[in-house]
Amino acid sequence: MTRKFDGTRILIATHNAGKLEEMEQLFGPHGVSVVGAAEMKLAEPEETENTFIGNARIKARAAVAATGLPALADDSGIEVEALNNQPGVYTADWAETPDGRDFLMAMTKTHTLLEEAGAPHPRRARFRATFVLAWPDGHDEVFEGKVNGTLVWPIRGQTGHGYDPMFMPDGYDITFAEMDPAEKNRVSHRADAFQKLIAGCFG
Ligand code: IMP
Repeated sequence: MTRKFDGTRILIATHNAGKLEEMEQLFGPHGVSVVGAAEMKLAEPEETENTFIGNARIKARAAVAATGLPALADDSGIEVEALNNQPGVYTADWAETPDGRDFLMAMTKTHTLLEEAGAPHPRRARFRATFVLAWPDGHDEVFEGKVNGTLVWPIRGQTGHGYDPMFMPDGYDITFAEMDPAEKNRVSHRADAFQKLIAGCFG
C-alpha cells in the first residue's frame, strides 16, 4: 500500500527556483504548502549512488534529517541506448567544466561517441525522472517517470535546458527545445513521475 501524505507542509529538496515553483503549483490544489532547500539553508549532499533512486533518496533523507519535515527530492538524466544507457545518473557530470555546466559540450561528446561507435539510426534515448518522498519516521515512496525518443544532430531549438535541443520525443518531429514549454511539461519524464506521485500519495 502506498502511504498517503496527510500533512500540510512539504520540504522540496532542491535549490532550483524553477523546480520549486513547479512543485508549488502541483501541491497547491492539495492544500499542501512547499518550502525550498535554499529557504532552509540546506547544504547540497554529495550524490554518491549510481542509480537515480539512490541519489534522490540521499537528497530526500538529508533534507528530512536537517529539518524534521517530510521531504521530496528528485533525480533525472538521459540514457542513450547505444552508449549502454550512459550518461544516465552522470548526465550533469558530463557537462561539468571549471566555469560551470556546458551542455553543448556534453551533447557534442554524446554525438561524437555515437559516431565513433558507428551507432545506427534512429539513435534511441530516454529521459528518466525519479522522485522520492521521505517521511521523518524512515518510510519513503518512490515514483519513476520516463519519456522515450530519438537523438538528432545537429541540435535544434532555443527553449529548455540541458539535453533538450538533441532530444525528439516519440510522436513529435520537433525537439524538446523547439516545443512550447507548457507542452513539454505535459509530456516529459517529470510530468510522468509527478502524475504517479499525485495519484499515489495525494489521490
Ligand atoms: P538533476 O536531476 O536536476 O540533477 O538533473 C540531471 C541532469 O539531467 C541535468 O543536468 C539536466 O540537464 C539533465 N536533464 C534532466 N531533465 C532534463 C530535461 O527535461 N531536459 C534536458 N535535460 C534534462
